[in-house]
Amino acid sequence: MSVLIVGSIALDTVKTPVEEHADLLGGSASYASLGASFFSPVKLVGIVGDDFPESEFDFWKERQIDATGVQRVSGKTFRWSGEYAWDMNTRETRSVALNVFEHFRPDLPEAYRETDFVLLANIAPALQSHVLDQMKEPRFVVADTMDLWIETARADLDALLPRVDLLILNDSEARELTKETSLIKAGRKIRKAGPKYVAIKKGEHGALLFGENEFFSCGAYPLEDIHDPTGAGDTFAGGMAGYLASASGKPDFASLRRAVIYGSVLASFNVEAFSLERLRTLTIEEIRERYDVFRAMSAFDERA
Ligand code: AMP
Repeated sequence: MSVLIVGSIALDTVKTPVEEHADLLGGSASYASLGASFFSPVKLVGIVGDDFPESEFDFWKERQIDATGVQRVSGKTFRWSGEYAWDMNTRETRSVALNVFEHFRPDLPEAYRETDFVLLANIAPALQSHVLDQMKEPRFVVADTMDLWIETARADLDALLPRVDLLILNDSEARELTKETSLIKAGRKIRKAGPKYVAIKKGEHGALLFGENEFFSCGAYPLEDIHDPTGAGDTFAGGMAGYLASASGKPDFASLRRAVIYGSVLASFNVEAFSLERLRTLTIEEIRERYDVFRAMSAFDERA
């Protein structure tokens, strides 16, 4: 089954304490769609300018990512620049140029409207709702968000939440959204605002998953070298949504738990190189191998 993904497509400039690279492919939808494509065909929705490399469209075609829904308009592609501190977690946005993204209206091609699985990657919640308004009857809706929307578009976000099956956000965003210090209280409170499931990402400390009466905690892969954390969250969301679309039937807590592990596996590969470079060479065998390492990490034999 395919997954419809809407979000930003960007050209990023990223600085870490040891390296800096400019004009890299980025954006929430770019990371999420490549992450999802390891498990399911993707229908991508976004906007780019006339400076956007044609080679990316060729790459998407090779990777079962249908880019019919990507509008190419005259002007410059959205640009974002960020700088990481030594912990490779704290990040400061250096500049944002919305360019063609400023007037983006995600109007779906007719053929996209019956897609069963939807990932509303990080964009303004009003645009995320606009996508849902055009869908026939999606079976499962995943949404990502960020601190900016919690601070500047709270009413739109509150209106979106009851329409979402799984909300993905990071720990500081969960605390900001709920004004709770405990992530357990925050996860439960967000569920009450609408989403059946909530996944809270904790960066290098793994992720938490909340269901009605269920809870799952997933550790993080013990990576030694992190080159660029950009897009880890988007890749996690893409991996989760892609895996859920590939499993048969309506997702239950057991499949969501596996999806959290697959999302974590993909995010752990993504940060090994700048931009989407690691995901471009990644194979399904490498994903399965690391999935088994995750499983072994969480297994515990009390006789040992
Ligand atoms: P993450 O590291 O998961 O937070 O995602 C980083 C990506 O988000 C970068 O590739 C940026 O191009 C993109 N991005 C930054 N700001 C925004 C924004 N306001 N809306 C949508 N995407 C953004």
